Amino acid sequence: MKKAFVTKEMVEEAVKKYPTPFHIYDEAGIKENARKLKEAFSWNKGYKEYFAVKATPNPFILEVLKDLGCGTDCSSYTELMLSDAVGFKGSEIMFSSNDTPAEEFAYAAKLGATINLDDITHIDFLEKTIGKLPETLSLRYNPGGVFKISTDIMDKPGDAKYGLTREQLFEAYGILKEKGVKRFGMHAFLASNTVTNEYYPTLARELFTTAVDVKEKLGVEISFINLSGGIGIPYTPDQEPNDIAVIGSRVKEVYDEVLVPAGLSDVSIFTELGRFMLAPFGMLVTKAIHEKHTHKEYIGVDACAVNLMRPAMYGAYHHITVLGKENEKADHMYDVTGSLCENNDKFAIDRMLPEIEMGDYLAIHDTGAHGFAMGYNYNGKLKSSELLLKEDGSIELIRRAERPSDYFATFDCFDKYAFLAKKES
Ligand SMILES: *Cc1c(COP(=O)(O)O)cnc(C)c1O
Repeated sequence: MKKAFVTKEMVEEAVKKYPTPFHIYDEAGIKENARKLKEAFSWNKGYKEYFAVKATPNPFILEVLKDLGCGTDCSSYTELMLSDAVGFKGSEIMFSSNDTPAEEFAYAAKLGATINLDDITHIDFLEKTIGKLPETLSLRYNPGGVFKISTDIMDKPGDAKYGLTREQLFEAYGILKEKGVKRFGMHAFLASNTVTNEYYPTLARELFTTAVDVKEKLGVEISFINLSGGIGIPYTPDQEPNDIAVIGSRVKEVYDEVLVPAGLSDVSIFTELGRFMLAPFGMLVTKAIHEKHTHKEYIGVDACAVNLMRPAMYGAYHHITVLGKENEKADHMYDVTGSLCENNDKFAIDRMLPEIEMGDYLAIHDTGAHGFAMGYNYNGKLKSSELLLKEDGSIELIRRAERPSDYFATFDCFDKYAFLAKKES
């Protein structure tokens, strides 16, 4: 049973100030989960989680994570700006980018972020861009082929645009050493949204054995190994959630088996989790505004795919709770739709839910990561506000909803239409 962390009463109170739709985040849940992660890897002295900013790029969320000892993982100019604004310093910022523009490398270097290179050609590119390579550099490894852990987890790194091949990886560490780099990192991201305790341990074995090879063949000692993102969450009610404590202790077993005997017992473990850190602790709250009985039964809500793209883009399942009807029988089948002129703008298809009346509030679950963040402005739709449910039960605005003037802001340089960028409504 998936349970919403807001009630109908809480939403009725919140909408007096902040109309639907909105994303709301659960501070207590975020903190408890982040503490469990930290505990799971507490056996590793240098362990650090670099939260993937792209999942939830909101400075107030980053503040919460910063207080718990997390850093940030960035892959764009504005994500770096955001990290800097929140007060993340130097090595608290990881820059794991690909197809990277020169000005982004320059900015990351200026902030003292740890740069994780996506390609062997980026060594020269970075050197030309900033003059001299930083003392610390990391490389993103892509072993290619197929990454398989169980019958239902299968990804194809061989088709992914990211990372260096094994051959390139060894060549690149050699070049970095020659060029005076002092601290080396290794990174890989081989499968996404894995709901199994086996992903990190399997990935860790691949990276740890590679690090031992790098030491033996090149005399290069890896200082940190970045297991990146990919730990998933159970979007559907029947899935068994990952147990982060088990994941942490299985990574330790592999560490003790592979790295320690090879004299690599000081390697720091890093993670760059996004989804695991935030997804379950965010919900999109929306109101039923239309019902339509044609070839199917439709409920039209005031949110649409610009507020949450995953169902339209991947056919992703997001659980829905009709607030106030948690204990009623789910005996009505609905398509729950938004208002875009796109037939894929459906939050749910053939979903069994309690009977929905106009004005009911629907909580769409697990939108805390890659939810608001993937928003866009198709059909001239505006992005929603973001709210934070604080630990004390109060609700705080952490991003206002877009206004038409925001949508038109990029016309401000034209005399003829600048008024659109200034007009409020
Ligand atoms: C997206 C991304 C992450 C986070 O992935 P999740 O699946 O949200 O944990 C981490 N690192 C990099 C480089 C990414 O691109």
